[in-house]
Amino acid sequence: METISSIKTRVYRFGNKNADGSSEMKNLLGGKGANLAEMSAIGIPVPPGFTITTEVCTAYNRLGQEDTIYLIKEEVESAIDFIENIMGCKFGDMENPLLISVRSGARVSMPGMMDTVLNLGLNDQAIDGLIRKTANERFVWDSYRRFIQMYSGVVLGMKPLTKEDIDPFEEIMEHLKEKREITLDTDFTVQDLKDLVYDFKDVVRKRTGKEFPMDPWEQLWGAVMAVFDSWNGDRAKYYRKMNGYPSDWGTAVNVQAMVFGNMGENSGTGVCFTRDAATGENVFNGEYLINAQGEDVVAGVRTPQQITTLGSKKWAELAQIEEKDRSENYPSLEELMPKMFYELNQYQDILERHYRDMQDMEFTIQDGKLWILQTRNGKRTGAAMVKIAVDLLKEGLINEKEAMLRIEPNKLDELLHPVFDPAGLVKEDIIAQGLPASPGAATGQIVFFADEADKYKYTILTRIETSPEDLEGMNVAKGILTARGGMTSHAAVVARGMGKCCVSGAGALKINYKERTMTVEGKEYQEGDWISINGSTGNIIEGKVPTMEPELSGEFAQIMSLSDKFRKMKVRTNADTPKDAKVARSFGAEGIGLTRTEHMFFEVDRIKAMREMILADTVKGRKLALKELLPMQRSDFEGIFEAMQGLPVTVRLLDPPLHEFVPHQLATQKELAEDLHISLSSVKTKVAELQEFNPMLGHRGCRLGNTYPEITEMQTRAIIEAALNLKEKGIEVTPEIMVPLIGTVNEFVVQDEIIRKTAEQVFKERNNKVEFLVGTMIEIPRAALMADKIAERADFFSFGTNDLTQMAFGYSRDDAGKFLSIYLEKGILTSDPFEIIDREGVGQLLAIGTERGRKTKPSLKVGICGEHGGEPNSVEFCNMIGMNYVSCSPFRVPIARVAAAQASILDKEQNS
Ligand code: ADP
Ligand code: MG
Ligand code: MG
Repeated sequence: METISSIKTRVYRFGNKNADGSSEMKNLLGGKGANLAEMSAIGIPVPPGFTITTEVCTAYNRLGQEDTIYLIKEEVESAIDFIENIMGCKFGDMENPLLISVRSGARVSMPGMMDTVLNLGLNDQAIDGLIRKTANERFVWDSYRRFIQMYSGVVLGMKPLTKEDIDPFEEIMEHLKEKREITLDTDFTVQDLKDLVYDFKDVVRKRTGKEFPMDPWEQLWGAVMAVFDSWNGDRAKYYRKMNGYPSDWGTAVNVQAMVFGNMGENSGTGVCFTRDAATGENVFNGEYLINAQGEDVVAGVRTPQQITTLGSKKWAELAQIEEKDRSENYPSLEELMPKMFYELNQYQDILERHYRDMQDMEFTIQDGKLWILQTRNGKRTGAAMVKIAVDLLKEGLINEKEAMLRIEPNKLDELLHPVFDPAGLVKEDIIAQGLPASPGAATGQIVFFADEADKYKYTILTRIETSPEDLEGMNVAKGILTARGGMTSHAAVVARGMGKCCVSGAGALKINYKERTMTVEGKEYQEGDWISINGSTGNIIEGKVPTMEPELSGEFAQIMSLSDKFRKMKVRTNADTPKDAKVARSFGAEGIGLTRTEHMFFEVDRIKAMREMILADTVKGRKLALKELLPMQRSDFEGIFEAMQGLPVTVRLLDPPLHEFVPHQLATQKELAEDLHISLSSVKTKVAELQEFNPMLGHRGCRLGNTYPEITEMQTRAIIEAALNLKEKGIEVTPEIMVPLIGTVNEFVVQDEIIRKTAEQVFKERNNKVEFLVGTMIEIPRAALMADKIAERADFFSFGTNDLTQMAFGYSRDDAGKFLSIYLEKGILTSDPFEIIDREGVGQLLAIGTERGRKTKPSLKVGICGEHGGEPNSVEFCNMIGMNYVSCSPFRVPIARVAAAQASILDKEQNS
């Protein structure tokens, strides 16, 4: 065998159990290219080919077509030679032509992002040579019509004219099928295929004004450039934005010798997974089609068959197909081609062990010989992610740290969301059944077009099948329902990646895009009608269905306890009610980092007393109203303390500007005036007085307690009395009282004095005591800078990163919507600082505040209670600067636990 030199820098070759590249080189070769190289190197049968690097794509954006071709021409020509030598045929030869595929692949897999062209190299002369060589006329014409179809769509940009139209080539095929009274592509005769080629070329001529290109080299360069162009197409851009991938990664181009699954009954193609991508179960599964090529399986042109017999039986049960009918008409690959199945089964096992993760593979059988065309770490649901990580750990393929790092924290969110309540499900409401393509429950109104997925608040995107253009709409919809396609269809794969509920291949649905209707067994449903889908069972249900909380045990619990083993930081929750506190505790919260007391005042019976307090003109009047509020606050705190069973609870004193509590509508102002026996005009005057130009920078936070000390007194009393009441019940709590929004040391000192004095007073009255802490929120940049002074008095710090970000950037959070999205689009900001902590700027304030505070008081407890406390990237930063805990909303607690564990694992790895 010819050895491969590695002096080539822009084109990497693979084939014949050898390769220039390896799986480590994903950034340069793209995921697909790197894995093709790796597979080839470890002896998996991969058709020979080469990969043009992602760097060339980036250069292309600068250089344009001509110079890029010049740059790589020689290397590409010699790589084509390399393939020719292995395959024993010649690119562009009329007698013995080499056909190739041109594929794309970025460093991470973007399903359907960039398109593939198969059978490239065919033209009017080469088909004769190929027919002589293969003696299979049908196969050659079928390949030719496919090539024209794909090349025209991908490279020549021929798309349906309107969204109600189907692909122009599909339309021609549909017409011919109707005329010939056949249903399947495989029913086309040689003459049909010849007619199709003729008609296809005709459409191309009419639409583009040019002849379909016959020169193979022109075809090849056209395809390569189209791959590079697709990197900056709308779909790819949207996918990058959704996942936060930078645009300078670029895509690689993979050129590979064709192997043919459409050579007859002894050939086929398929997709398989080493484990179940929906549930994570360790069962090999997949789908295949006989006498088919490439995307046929994914696009759902025919009903794909199951690879294993077990899977085949399960599938038949769902589709209500009798066993005899199944084994005759839809046999598994295991039954139909036992030798091929045996080989495939071995390769899937080798590849999973080699990559030590669940693999998603493509294969093609050409005349009884098996080829593997792709492998990658398979996309999976949140549930599968957790189960697979735990199972691989148990099987000894990965260690505990690796298992931990296999978890994408944000994906855990999927597991925490409701499922259909079986009690609320009436059997009769199930109108049809599809395949359980991506689990979960979704209820919404029917929409038929991706660009209308936001037409209603909750939508189910209902389509014959989905395509990469639909990505954005799929992301917006609550669930996805398709009439065609199997478990490996575009809809299914993408939905699982997004963690979105999906039912695919529901053959009973007759969808009419033009009329915007769906008919199921005679009953018509229209756009806007409510339906529900269950992605775990495949059920399609009429109307809305009630949901219930999911169960969190098994592998989820194992990952959670494993995360506790590795993390250094504690995870607390932000909770204002006993209910939230309980939910958070069930998710493993180790305390409350923020209880916002103002939320308690908005309830109907309380808002009145609150307004009375605000409208009072005298201290006496205010105290009277506060007295009414005291028992309510106290019982709220008791509820929360009790829910937390002795775990630490941080209570923040009143924070928002008072005008948020007073009524702004005439009717409610009148009501209030009557209630308080004062005139409407005095209510109006008071409301007007509270109006501020910049409420967020106005009379709020500790400025309230410092101007109306009686508010702080009442709140402190409520907190301490609640703690004492619980102590009498045998529950010891150490309340942490938190003063909001301080900027100067004295603002804190004065509040601290009031709090301590009030507490002493209550202790004396009750002749009993509890421990308590007094600390502050650091949310004004000045406070972060003054941290050493503040720490002389404060027992703890909690960074309020929402306000801190707002003030550090000078962006009003409520108005930022207008410009933030534009900033992000233009790249002026790389991420939304309200979502992901701005490490560079705001991060400095956090680091300085922590460091200076601890310089004064080494034992100072430091945490974060802004929205960032549940965002993995920000959690990592909190760990880096040595915070004691993060606090986040209840549903983010599991995410923060895992993120904190990953942060400390990575931190140790970097420092060892
Ligand atoms: P995607 O990234 O959308 O999966 P691929 O490049 O993997 O696109 O190709 C699309 C389909 O074409 C796949 O089913 C793949 O297996 C098939 N295919 C690609 N290259 C070849 C080839 N050289 N021979 C046969 N089939 C191929
Ligand atoms: Mg594709
Ligand atoms: Mg692929």
